[in-house]
Amino acid sequence: MAKKIIIIGAGGVGRVVAYKCAAAKETFGEIVLASRTPAKCEAIAADIAERLGRGIRCAAVDADDEKSLTALLEKEQPDLVIHVALPYQDITIMESCLKTRTHYLDTANYEPRDTARFEYAKQWAYHERYEKAGISALLGSGFDPGVTNVYTAYLAKHIFDTIREIDIIDVNGGDHGKPFATNFNPEINIREVTAACRHYEEGRFVESAPLALHRRFACPEEVGEYDIYRLYHEELESLVKNFPGITRAQFWMSFSQNYLKHLEVLQNVGMTRIDPVIYNGAEIIPLQFLKAVLPEPSSLGPLTKGRTCIGVLAKGMKDGKEKSAFIYNICSHEEAYLETGSQAISFTTGVPAMLGAKMMLDGKWLKPGVYNMENHDPDPFMNEIGGVGLPWVLQDPASIRW
Ligand code: NDP
Repeated sequence: MAKKIIIIGAGGVGRVVAYKCAAAKETFGEIVLASRTPAKCEAIAADIAERLGRGIRCAAVDADDEKSLTALLEKEQPDLVIHVALPYQDITIMESCLKTRTHYLDTANYEPRDTARFEYAKQWAYHERYEKAGISALLGSGFDPGVTNVYTAYLAKHIFDTIREIDIIDVNGGDHGKPFATNFNPEINIREVTAACRHYEEGRFVESAPLALHRRFACPEEVGEYDIYRLYHEELESLVKNFPGITRAQFWMSFSQNYLKHLEVLQNVGMTRIDPVIYNGAEIIPLQFLKAVLPEPSSLGPLTKGRTCIGVLAKGMKDGKEKSAFIYNICSHEEAYLETGSQAISFTTGVPAMLGAKMMLDGKWLKPGVYNMENHDPDPFMNEIGGVGLPWVLQDPASIRW
């Protein structure tokens, strides 16, 4: 029987999740899209009605306010909450889900507003309470984290006896033509990119300066050759815990020289600060002000051309011999926009959020407790992800220039 969901957040990702859930009506029976600015929900609902001929309902909610969120969940009684607002709200939403015994899914780990700290500890701490309440939480069901975790689980299950090294590579070969804009929420994006880099080496995380190390990467299928920079990304934390054979884990993301030049200037003049400063007698956070003047990621859909290539390059052992493998997806910005009205970064996040939710509601990934993607059997997810828009390729890395 089709289930009821509430999607929280009506940005670029929220649009894709709402569209993809509405398209999978055998799983998602009733859909409520709730966010802080109701007009954004209504615009998405109108677009879905036009594209798919299906109605979804809208609601206003401030997910920082646990009481009003709990009241909304009590009133609506959804089976599952898909949280695609901001990482700041992970804990309030998990708490409301616990109070109302509602399953929970998100795409980014909790971050406190006052420090750019990325860790799962606060969310993993809910495991026993969720287990006791008989509800399930799926953490990080986007692309990275998300599909990259499932790729790693798939490699561990089918391709390797032991994985020793992983390099997660995230290339955005797209161009939106703006002098400076971020592909997802600017505040979250800039916090992530300017934070100290951490990578995993011989049983511990090693810290280095942000973006200090870079290399060239030639993507398959003529997506192009790009400079990729090492930075910390949250899936490293869960992957090294869940696959203890891994001795080195790194995350790499592509940036254009133009993006880096703007970022450097913004940092130098203090615009990326997340501590309060007094302006005209009021406290403001410079990065939040910067977000207000930068293009909204959801407005980049019609402008962005090109493709993304995100994958996991793994090295390890199989049958006593050394082995390597590269598993990836390539996604076109233009095709994502044509289908959903959002560019590929929102698309590659929103599609796995929908599919993770489907895995839970279909009962394939519904253990009580708090889980990362790789804690579940990767096969049902890998069998369906291509059909909903993100096909994957497993390649012999000898043909990758690395
Ligand atoms: P946007 O900024 O475009 O959208 C965020 C939405 O959340 C907006 O509609 C915003 O409302 C709403 N919102 C913010 N605060 C609240 C609140 N307190 N209560 C209710 N709604 C709120 O971001 P994106 O769509 O680009 O990203 C969404 C999430 O996806 C982020 O957490 C991001 O980290 C994550 N992400 C994950 C990726 C992955 O691969 N795992 C990749 C990319 C993103 P308003 O319009 O009023 O501001």
